[in-house]
Amino acid sequence: MSTRLFVSEALSNGATLELHGEHARYIGRVLRARVGDPVFVFNGEDGEWRAEITGITKSVVSILVQEHHQTLTESSLKLHLVQGISRGERMDFVVQKATELGVKRITPVLTDHGVVKLDGSRAEKRQQHWQRVAESACEQCGRIRPPLIDAPIPINRWFGEKQADDSSQLILHPGAATALQDIESPQTKLCLLIGPEGGFSAKEYEDAGIAGFREVSLGPRILRTETAALAALTVAQLKWGDFRPG
Ligand code: SAH
Repeated sequence: MSTRLFVSEALSNGATLELHGEHARYIGRVLRARVGDPVFVFNGEDGEWRAEITGITKSVVSILVQEHHQTLTESSLKLHLVQGISRGERMDFVVQKATELGVKRITPVLTDHGVVKLDGSRAEKRQQHWQRVAESACEQCGRIRPPLIDAPIPINRWFGEKQADDSSQLILHPGAATALQDIESPQTKLCLLIGPEGGFSAKEYEDAGIAGFREVSLGPRILRTETAALAALTVAQLKWGDFRPG
Protein backbone atom coordinates (compact mmCIF):
# COMPACT_ATOMS: atom_id res chain seq x y z
CA MET A 1 0.00 0.00 0.00
CA SER A 2 1.22 3.47 -0.77
CA THR A 3 2.36 5.72 2.05
CA ARG A 4 -0.16 8.42 2.90
CA LEU A 5 0.60 11.32 5.18
CA PHE A 6 -1.60 14.02 6.67
CA VAL A 7 0.29 17.35 6.59
CA SER A 8 -0.61 20.86 7.66
CA GLU A 9 0.97 22.79 4.77
CA ALA A 10 -0.89 24.01 1.66
CA LEU A 11 -0.52 21.61 -1.27
CA SER A 12 -0.02 22.47 -4.92
CA ASN A 13 2.06 21.39 -7.86
CA GLY A 14 5.74 22.14 -7.24
CA ALA A 15 5.43 22.81 -3.49
CA THR A 16 8.31 21.54 -1.38
CA LEU A 17 7.67 20.32 2.14
CA GLU A 18 9.87 19.30 5.01
CA LEU A 19 8.57 16.50 7.19
CA HIS A 20 9.82 16.28 10.75
CA GLY A 21 9.16 14.22 13.87
CA GLU A 22 7.03 11.12 13.58
CA HIS A 23 6.57 11.40 9.82
CA ALA A 24 10.32 11.72 9.17
CA ARG A 25 11.08 8.80 11.48
CA TYR A 26 8.40 6.68 9.88
CA ILE A 27 9.61 7.30 6.32
CA GLY A 28 13.31 7.05 7.09
CA ARG A 29 13.53 4.32 9.70
CA VAL A 30 10.35 2.28 9.48
CA LEU A 31 9.80 2.27 5.72
CA ARG A 32 13.48 2.76 4.89
CA ALA A 33 12.35 4.80 1.92
CA ARG A 34 14.84 6.21 -0.60
CA VAL A 35 15.15 9.46 -2.48
CA GLY A 36 12.86 9.17 -5.53
CA ASP A 37 10.24 7.06 -3.74
CA PRO A 38 6.64 8.31 -3.97
CA VAL A 39 4.45 9.33 -1.03
CA PHE A 40 0.90 10.66 -1.03
CA VAL A 41 0.01 13.71 1.04
CA PHE A 42 -3.27 15.37 2.01
CA ASN A 43 -4.14 18.25 4.34
CA GLY A 44 -7.92 18.02 4.68
CA GLU A 45 -8.54 20.85 2.18
CA ASP A 46 -6.60 20.54 -1.05
CA GLY A 47 -7.32 16.87 -1.82
CA GLU A 48 -4.62 14.23 -2.16
CA TRP A 49 -1.32 14.75 -3.98
CA ARG A 50 1.44 12.50 -5.20
CA ALA A 51 4.87 13.66 -4.04
CA GLU A 52 8.40 12.41 -4.42
CA ILE A 53 11.04 12.16 -1.73
CA THR A 54 13.92 14.52 -2.57
CA GLY A 55 16.02 14.24 0.58
CA ILE A 56 16.31 12.13 3.72
CA THR A 57 18.34 12.89 6.83
CA LYS A 58 17.94 11.45 10.33
CA SER A 59 15.34 14.01 11.32
CA VAL A 60 14.03 15.64 8.14
CA VAL A 61 12.49 14.24 4.98
CA SER A 62 12.00 16.63 2.05
CA ILE A 63 9.37 16.03 -0.56
CA LEU A 64 8.35 17.67 -3.81
CA VAL A 65 4.60 17.77 -4.47
CA GLN A 66 3.90 16.76 -8.05
CA GLU A 67 0.38 16.02 -9.10
CA HIS A 68 -3.15 15.99 -7.79
CA HIS A 69 -4.52 12.53 -7.21
CA GLN A 70 -8.27 11.95 -7.56
CA THR A 71 -9.56 10.31 -4.37
CA LEU A 72 -13.20 9.43 -3.74
CA THR A 73 -13.28 8.12 -0.22
CA GLU A 74 -15.46 10.67 1.57
CA SER A 75 -18.91 9.51 2.63
CA SER A 76 -21.91 11.07 0.87
CA LEU A 77 -24.02 10.46 3.97
CA LYS A 78 -22.94 13.09 6.50
CA LEU A 79 -22.61 11.29 9.79
CA HIS A 80 -22.29 13.20 13.05
CA LEU A 81 -21.50 11.13 16.11
CA VAL A 82 -22.25 12.66 19.49
CA GLN A 83 -20.47 10.29 21.82
CA GLY A 84 -20.60 10.12 25.63
CA ILE A 85 -16.93 10.23 26.62
CA SER A 86 -15.69 6.85 27.74
CA ARG A 87 -12.38 5.85 29.30
CA GLY A 88 -9.11 6.50 27.40
CA GLU A 89 -8.62 3.58 25.11
CA ARG A 90 -12.30 3.04 24.40
CA MET A 91 -12.75 6.60 23.23
CA ASP A 92 -9.62 6.34 21.05
CA PHE A 93 -11.08 3.18 19.55
CA VAL A 94 -14.38 4.94 18.80
CA VAL A 95 -12.60 7.90 17.16
CA GLN A 96 -10.43 5.62 15.03
CA LYS A 97 -13.22 3.29 13.90
CA ALA A 98 -15.76 6.07 13.38
CA THR A 99 -13.21 7.78 11.10
CA GLU A 100 -12.72 4.58 9.11
CA LEU A 101 -16.48 4.32 8.79
CA GLY A 102 -16.66 7.78 7.26
CA VAL A 103 -17.95 9.96 10.10
CA LYS A 104 -17.74 13.73 9.36
CA ARG A 105 -17.85 15.07 12.86
CA ILE A 106 -17.48 13.78 16.40
CA THR A 107 -18.73 15.72 19.41
CA PRO A 108 -17.45 14.23 22.68
CA VAL A 109 -20.03 14.92 25.40
CA LEU A 110 -19.83 14.81 29.19
CA THR A 111 -22.89 13.13 30.63
CA ASP A 112 -24.52 12.45 34.02
CA HIS A 113 -23.29 8.86 34.21
CA GLY A 114 -19.97 9.40 32.46
CA VAL A 115 -16.91 8.32 34.43
CA VAL A 116 -14.50 10.72 32.73
CA LYS A 117 -14.18 14.26 34.08
CA LEU A 118 -12.24 16.76 32.00
CA ASP A 119 -11.25 20.27 33.04
CA GLY A 120 -10.10 23.03 30.65
CA SER A 121 -6.51 22.11 29.79
CA ARG A 122 -7.06 18.34 29.95
CA ALA A 123 -10.10 18.69 27.71
CA GLU A 124 -8.04 20.58 25.15
CA LYS A 125 -5.28 17.96 25.28
CA ARG A 126 -7.79 15.15 24.77
CA GLN A 127 -9.36 16.97 21.84
CA GLN A 128 -5.95 17.37 20.16
CA HIS A 129 -5.13 13.74 20.87
CA TRP A 130 -8.40 12.54 19.31
CA GLN A 131 -7.82 14.80 16.30
CA ARG A 132 -4.44 13.12 15.81
CA VAL A 133 -6.05 9.67 16.17
CA ALA A 134 -8.53 10.65 13.44
CA GLU A 135 -5.78 12.00 11.14
CA SER A 136 -3.80 8.84 11.54
CA ALA A 137 -6.91 6.74 10.77
CA CYS A 138 -7.34 8.82 7.57
CA GLU A 139 -3.73 8.10 6.57
CA GLN A 140 -4.43 4.42 6.93
CA CYS A 141 -7.92 4.15 5.41
CA GLY A 142 -7.55 6.41 2.39
CA ARG A 143 -9.70 9.34 3.51
CA ILE A 144 -8.64 12.88 2.63
CA ARG A 145 -10.70 14.92 5.10
CA PRO A 146 -10.25 14.11 8.78
CA PRO A 147 -13.49 14.44 10.74
CA LEU A 148 -13.90 17.52 12.88
CA ILE A 149 -13.46 16.67 16.56
CA ASP A 150 -15.26 19.21 18.71
CA ALA A 151 -14.08 20.31 22.15
CA PRO A 152 -15.66 18.14 24.86
CA ILE A 153 -18.88 19.75 26.08
CA PRO A 154 -21.52 18.85 28.71
CA ILE A 155 -24.45 17.33 26.85
CA ASN A 156 -27.03 19.74 28.28
CA ARG A 157 -24.97 22.66 27.00
CA TRP A 158 -24.67 20.97 23.62
CA PHE A 159 -28.47 20.61 23.42
CA GLY A 160 -28.79 24.33 24.26
CA GLU A 161 -26.21 25.57 21.75
CA LYS A 162 -26.89 23.22 18.88
CA GLN A 163 -27.92 24.84 15.58
CA ALA A 164 -31.14 23.54 14.06
CA ASP A 165 -30.54 21.80 10.74
CA ASP A 166 -32.13 19.15 8.55
CA SER A 167 -30.35 16.17 10.13
CA SER A 168 -32.20 13.04 11.12
CA GLN A 169 -31.55 12.99 14.87
CA LEU A 170 -31.41 9.74 16.78
CA ILE A 171 -30.48 8.72 20.31
CA LEU A 172 -29.44 5.13 20.88
CA HIS A 173 -31.52 3.63 23.68
CA PRO A 174 -31.41 -0.08 24.56
CA GLY A 175 -35.13 -0.02 25.42
CA ALA A 176 -36.40 1.84 22.33
CA ALA A 177 -39.35 0.38 20.41
CA THR A 178 -38.03 1.31 16.95
CA ALA A 179 -35.00 -0.35 15.38
CA LEU A 180 -32.32 1.92 13.91
CA GLN A 181 -32.62 0.34 10.48
CA ASP A 182 -36.38 0.96 10.38
CA ILE A 183 -36.31 4.76 10.44
CA GLU A 184 -37.01 6.50 7.16
CA SER A 185 -33.98 7.27 5.06
CA PRO A 186 -32.12 10.41 6.20
CA GLN A 187 -31.89 13.15 3.54
CA THR A 188 -28.16 13.73 3.71
CA LYS A 189 -27.31 14.06 7.38
CA LEU A 190 -27.63 11.75 10.32
CA CYS A 191 -26.78 12.69 13.89
CA LEU A 192 -26.36 9.80 16.34
CA LEU A 193 -26.18 10.17 20.12
CA ILE A 194 -24.51 7.31 21.97
CA GLY A 195 -24.18 7.02 25.74
CA PRO A 196 -20.97 6.31 27.70
CA GLU A 197 -20.34 3.09 29.68
CA GLY A 198 -23.02 4.05 32.22
CA GLY A 199 -25.63 5.00 29.61
CA PHE A 200 -27.75 8.16 29.56
CA SER A 201 -29.80 9.41 32.52
CA ALA A 202 -33.61 9.71 32.35
CA LYS A 203 -33.20 13.50 32.20
CA GLU A 204 -30.82 13.21 29.23
CA TYR A 205 -33.30 11.05 27.31
CA GLU A 206 -35.96 13.62 28.11
CA ASP A 207 -33.79 16.56 26.98
CA ALA A 208 -32.91 14.66 23.80
CA GLY A 209 -36.61 14.15 23.10
CA ILE A 210 -37.27 17.86 23.55
CA ALA A 211 -34.37 18.64 21.20
CA GLY A 212 -36.01 16.44 18.53
CA PHE A 213 -34.06 13.20 18.91
CA ARG A 214 -35.88 9.93 18.37
CA GLU A 215 -34.99 6.84 20.39
CA VAL A 216 -33.80 3.83 18.43
CA SER A 217 -32.58 0.38 19.35
CA LEU A 218 -29.80 -1.92 18.19
CA GLY A 219 -31.52 -5.07 19.40
CA PRO A 220 -31.94 -7.00 22.62
CA ARG A 221 -28.34 -7.13 23.86
CA ILE A 222 -26.68 -4.25 25.73
CA LEU A 223 -23.67 -3.32 23.66
CA ARG A 224 -20.64 -1.63 25.12
CA THR A 225 -20.48 1.99 24.16
CA GLU A 226 -17.72 1.45 21.58
CA THR A 227 -19.58 -1.51 20.08
CA ALA A 228 -22.77 0.55 19.89
CA ALA A 229 -20.95 3.34 17.99
CA LEU A 230 -19.43 0.89 15.52
CA ALA A 231 -22.66 -1.03 15.01
CA ALA A 232 -24.78 2.11 14.54
CA LEU A 233 -22.39 3.66 12.01
CA THR A 234 -22.22 0.35 10.15
CA VAL A 235 -26.01 0.12 9.92
CA ALA A 236 -26.15 3.71 8.65
CA GLN A 237 -23.50 3.18 5.96
CA LEU A 238 -25.04 -0.11 4.93
CA LYS A 239 -28.58 1.22 4.60
CA TRP A 240 -28.08 4.82 3.49
CA GLY A 241 -24.39 5.31 2.79
CA ASP A 242 -21.54 4.02 0.71
CA PHE A 243 -20.87 0.40 1.69
CA ARG A 244 -20.54 -0.50 -1.96
CA PRO A 245 -17.78 -0.43 -4.57
CA GLY A 246 -17.18 3.09 -5.94
N1 SAH B 1 -26.42 0.43 31.43
C1 SAH B 1 -26.52 1.26 30.30
C2 SAH B 1 -25.80 0.63 29.13
C3 SAH B 1 -24.99 1.58 28.41
S1 SAH B 1 -24.36 0.95 26.95
C4 SAH B 1 -27.99 1.47 29.89
O1 SAH B 1 -28.81 0.66 30.27
O2 SAH B 1 -28.30 2.42 29.21
C5 SAH B 1 -23.71 2.42 26.24
C6 SAH B 1 -24.58 3.07 25.20
O3 SAH B 1 -24.63 2.27 24.04
C7 SAH B 1 -26.02 3.31 25.57
O4 SAH B 1 -26.17 4.51 26.28
C8 SAH B 1 -26.71 3.37 24.21
O5 SAH B 1 -26.59 4.66 23.66
C9 SAH B 1 -25.88 2.38 23.40
N2 SAH B 1 -26.46 1.03 23.36
C10 SAH B 1 -25.93 -0.10 23.86
N3 SAH B 1 -26.70 -1.17 23.56
C11 SAH B 1 -27.74 -0.71 22.83
C12 SAH B 1 -28.87 -1.32 22.23
N4 SAH B 1 -29.09 -2.62 22.29
N5 SAH B 1 -29.71 -0.50 21.54
C13 SAH B 1 -29.51 0.83 21.47
N6 SAH B 1 -28.47 1.45 22.04
C14 SAH B 1 -27.58 0.70 22.70
